[in-house]
Amino acid sequence: MMNVIGIDIGGTSVKGIVCDREGRSLAETKRPTDAKAGREAILAAVASTVEALLRDRPEASAIGIGTAGRVNAETGVVVYATDNLPGWQGLNLKTWAEAAFGRPTFADNDANAALLGESWIGAAQSLNDVVMLTLGTGVGGANMAGGKLIRGANWSGGEWGHAVLVPGGAECNCGRSGCMEQYLSGTALVRLASEAVGRAFPSGLDVLNAADAGDPAAKAVVDQFVFRLAVAAGNISNGLDPQAIVIGGGVVDAHGLWWPAFHSALGLAGIQADVRPASLGNRAGMLGAAKLALDGLSGGTVA
Ligand code: BGC
Ligand code: ZN
Repeated sequence: MMNVIGIDIGGTSVKGIVCDREGRSLAETKRPTDAKAGREAILAAVASTVEALLRDRPEASAIGIGTAGRVNAETGVVVYATDNLPGWQGLNLKTWAEAAFGRPTFADNDANAALLGESWIGAAQSLNDVVMLTLGTGVGGANMAGGKLIRGANWSGGEWGHAVLVPGGAECNCGRSGCMEQYLSGTALVRLASEAVGRAFPSGLDVLNAADAGDPAAKAVVDQFVFRLAVAAGNISNGLDPQAIVIGGGVVDAHGLWWPAFHSALGLAGIQADVRPASLGNRAGMLGAAKLALDGLSGGTVA
C-alpha cells in the first residue's frame, strides 16, 4: 500500500488530499488563502493543510504540489509567477516542503497537475493527446502528447492563459494585454458583467445565472465568452490537433448553463478535437498532484 499527499495551491484556497495508488481518497482538507497576502501566508496555509493530513494519515510517504506559475518540475523551483501570487517567483517548493515535512516532494504547474488528474481517473482517461484549459481565478493550460505532459523548453508549455485572444485588450498581470485570462476566467466574467450590467457580481456563477434568467446585458457577456472560448479551442485544435480538449476550473462547475451554446459555436469553428468538460471538478488539481508524487516515487521526477 502506498499513500501520498496531493496539494493544490489556488488563488482562494489550498486543497489537500491523501489518496492511494488508485486515486481513492483517504483524507481531504482545505484552508482558505488570500494569495495577495504573500508568500509566507500561503506557505503557512500549505503547512497547516499538510500537517492536518499527516495527523490523519502519517503513513503518507510523498507529497505532490500543483501551483499557479511556471514550475521547473525537475528542481521544484517556481521559475515565473505573475502578480496573482506576489513573492512566489524563485521559491523552491520541493526543498521547502522536504525540509518542513521530511517526505520526498514533487512540484508542477497547477493546470499540468489537473490534466494529470483527469488523464489518470477523469475525463481524459485512455487518451494520449490532450489539451486542458482551466477557467478559474486565472486561466491555466496543459498539453499532453503521447501520454506525457509537454512542459516546454522553459517550463511554460501549455500556458494558454497568456496567449492573446483580444489584441490591444485588457491589461494582464503578466504584463501583456488581451490575454485569454482576461476574457475566459471566472474573474474576467465578473469584471465584464459588472461593467456591462452596472452592478457588482459576486462570482462567475452569478453572471451565468443572471444570463440564464434572461438579463440581456449578462447574456451578451456570456455569449461573447462562449464565442471567444470557441475561438481559443479552434486555435488550439488547429495548432496541436489533440484528440480532446478538456475544459475544467470553477466556470465549468456550472457548464450546464453555457455548454449547449458553446457546442454550437464550436461547430461554427469547425474544430476536429472532441471538446469535453472535465469530470473531477475542483478536485482535479490535488488528485493530479498526488499522481505526480506517485510517478515521482516510481522513478522520474518529470512524468
Ligand atoms: C498562471 C498559470 C496558472 C493559471 C491557473 C495563470 O495566471 O499564469 O501558471 O496555471 O493562472 O492558476
Ligand atoms: Zn497574461
